Amino acid sequence: MRPSNAFDHLAGAEVRYDRRSREHYGTRGVATRFRATPAFEETLQAAFADLWDACPLGRAEVIASGGAFADKPGAHGRGRAFDLDALFWPERAFVALSYPHDRRFYLAVEAVLRGHLGTVLNYRYDAAHRDHLHLGDLAPRGFVPEHRSRVLFLQMALTHLFGRRVAIDGRIGPETRGAARDLLAELELASSRSPEAPQALDDRLGEAWPEVLDAATQRGFADAGGESGSRQSAAGDAS
Ligand SMILES: [Zn+2]
Repeated sequence: MRPSNAFDHLAGAEVRYDRRSREHYGTRGVATRFRATPAFEETLQAAFADLWDACPLGRAEVIASGGAFADKPGAHGRGRAFDLDALFWPERAFVALSYPHDRRFYLAVEAVLRGHLGTVLNYRYDAAHRDHLHLGDLAPRGFVPEHRSRVLFLQMALTHLFGRRVAIDGRIGPETRGAARDLLAELELASSRSPEAPQALDDRLGEAWPEVLDAATQRGFADAGGESGSRQSAAGDAS
């Protein structure tokens, strides 16, 4: 059923539609009102407010989207999904399809959104999600070792943000768990690097997930420019 609730801004940024035609994708799009349940809109408002706080560039001017409510099965048909195509700041654009050239920024954005939304399907999830981040709230937030989308994100973050290259296949196994265990120790979220049962590691990862997301956000945005970003890189040059 089509929600009566509609929005055209999220956390002060204009939300616009960029899928009128194939050529339109990844542009600032056109003004549109998007429909979603009030609760889901509220989740999106909080997620994007958090993103503007975390990102050195601050609040984006435009959020380009392929849609929220759509008359089809699944979360979109329930008014509980939103497709993020692109973000535009005066000095920078983020386009989901550019993931291979913009991994760190992409994963920082995804880390913030994962703090608010249980379902995030990204570039590596399947071919249909290369050009947008699908956001939904039908599933609870957190780390779930059986969920391919969450393990993919963990493996991408380990490899591209935390310098711990692992196979990115969406399946948790000894390699991913070993790298995750070392990361938890490095972030001082675990007391030792000693091996433990897979179940215990998965539980620990679940407990520490919000801190892992925060660390991923900081790493990913560290070289993203903006005032704090330039200060960081200036300090880096001096050392
Ligand atoms: Zn979607």
